[in-house]
Amino acid sequence: MKPMLNQDCLISLVIPVFNEEANLDQLIERCLSVCRGLGNPFEIILVDDGSQDQSAKLIEYAALANPELKGVFLNRNYGQHAAVTAGFETSKGEIIITLDADLQNPPEEIPRLIQAIHQGYDVVGSVRQNRKDSFFRKFSSALVNWFVQKTTGVMMHDYGCMLRAYRRNIVDAVLSCPERSTFIPILANNFARNVTEIPVSHDERKNGHTKYSLYKLISLQFDLLTCMTTFPLRLLSILGALAFLAGTGFGVFLIVMRLIFGASWAAEGVFTLFAVMFTFTGAQFLVFGLLGEYIGRIYHDVQARPKYYIQKIVGPTD
Ligand code: UDP
Ligand code: MG
Repeated sequence: MKPMLNQDCLISLVIPVFNEEANLDQLIERCLSVCRGLGNPFEIILVDDGSQDQSAKLIEYAALANPELKGVFLNRNYGQHAAVTAGFETSKGEIIITLDADLQNPPEEIPRLIQAIHQGYDVVGSVRQNRKDSFFRKFSSALVNWFVQKTTGVMMHDYGCMLRAYRRNIVDAVLSCPERSTFIPILANNFARNVTEIPVSHDERKNGHTKYSLYKLISLQFDLLTCMTTFPLRLLSILGALAFLAGTGFGVFLIVMRLIFGASWAAEGVFTLFAVMFTFTGAQFLVFGLLGEYIGRIYHDVQARPKYYIQKIVGPTD
């Protein structure tokens, strides 16, 4: 476990905002009242992700009126995770909390996240209880969470919930990754030693509607997948090898049967055609898979993540 953080450390809230004009007043009010109750110094960073409504103006007014508020304005819409990254870059806190602007994540849960960080965790996730989303969203989330758990081995139950807390060193590590498409909870877990999650309540969206169209949602799932692994590229080799082996095995079987039972067996060569087809398709996929291996390596190099991450050094270093 990590040593305790200074109890008076600065807390940063990072909130991405995209066309949330109807939620901003309440969001700011509730966040300010929760943060003031903490007794720590704090900053609330609202990142306007190229909103087309009055959100940017509202953030600007609020930031001018409150010294604890900071507005970060992106020139256009880059997506939730890019907006959070921009907020990370601006933040100075020892503990950084992310949450959504639509008040689906109640800010009142923040003290519990901070408590878990003080217990020594690097990353604190949250699991939405009684999630107030459509069946489709819940079902697709369950599928994705199951897949991420299987692939990464990290047992977190709700990767989609952005009400999360990170220690400074984790955020700095995330910022050291220059890759463009990213999914912050997965990337952060990459650099964490101790992660935990706590159950949190979940509310219905107060105003406006979800900012994720089906297309954006699919695109987000691809970000998550490619941020996590290049395994799908290797899958080509595996499937190719299986088809190749099946085709070759079937071919050998046909030859043996042909020798024993004569030419009329195997439907006058139709089955042979299957065997040949499987063998060649399999071989093709194997070669695609090989290309995939190279592409995967190029992809990792382009991502240019740190090769390893030193969490701390104990003892004399010079
Ligand atoms: N968001 C953003 N940029 C986008 C899409 C969403 O900054 O391109 C913000 C949005 O304003 C909200 C959070 O990300 O604060 C989560 O979005 P939303 O509530 O629409 O997602 P859902 O709850 O439907 O998953
Ligand atoms: Mg929402």
